[in-house]
Amino acid sequence: MTAVEALRSGQRAGAALTGKVAIVTGGASGLGRAMALALAEAGARVVVADLDARAGREVADLVDGAFRACDVSDLEANRALVEFAQDQYGGVDIALLNAGVATGCGVGGDFDPARYRRAMGANLDGVVYGTHAVLPALRARGGGAIVATASLAGLAAVPLDPLYAANKHAVVGLARSLGPALAADHVRFNAVCPGFAESRIIDPLRDMLSAQGMPVIPAEAVADTVLRIVTGDGSGECWFVQAGREAEPFR
Ligand code: NAD
Repeated sequence: MTAVEALRSGQRAGAALTGKVAIVTGGASGLGRAMALALAEAGARVVVADLDARAGREVADLVDGAFRACDVSDLEANRALVEFAQDQYGGVDIALLNAGVATGCGVGGDFDPARYRRAMGANLDGVVYGTHAVLPALRARGGGAIVATASLAGLAAVPLDPLYAANKHAVVGLARSLGPALAADHVRFNAVCPGFAESRIIDPLRDMLSAQGMPVIPAEAVADTVLRIVTGDGSGECWFVQAGREAEPFR
């Protein structure tokens, strides 16, 4: 019996997030999948949202939650996702705005407007639209927590993918600026900033990472950090996650 099954069947007593409802965008794969599992094991009801319906439904089944197909770059789709979570589970307390993609183009001769828009849509619009859509639901519950997945690329220069770095710097700026402003509503807004972490997004980089002896962070370590953020009390913080070190807010 998994921890989630034990919890749902009453064979495991209340955990930190029992009674809470969480949305995880990009929950079908990689870091979002690990976050969905971690939240469910902490007792939350989880709505997995993703473009990938097949993998998303699998994760939803695994966490005894629900799946909603959603393109986070579409504002109406974000609104529909929040309504879906409210219909399913009566409200929303936590939103992990995690969906994202590598950009895959630069700004010179390799500029590709479609790739650029796709990355901006998932990585930045997804966080802005997701926040706008979920805020009324969080306020209706008396507060809640939003965690946006930024990246080390939001804290440091990334010559490999400057447009990705631009997206993620914007998410970090949003977290730092919006976090304190939402305190009056008891809504906490933070970001998680992993270095290279285990997921398919790093597949094109694996040879380079192993040639340089660069360690890759397990997806579970990122998910554990997100759980700490959700159950903590900070707002406007950007938590840097690196391999083999305790995660902490980046100053
Ligand atoms: P992943 O490719 O395994 O997962 C990303 C998920 O997002 C996929 O399931 C994909 O279908 C979904 N998605 C993409 N665009 C979407 C959209 N428009 N609407 C809805 N869903 C969409 O990659 P991952 O590494 O797990 O990525 C998760 C987040 O972590 C991303 O924001 C990424 O930028 C960030 N991140 C990853 C790393 C890393 O090294 N893996 C490091 C730092 C930050």
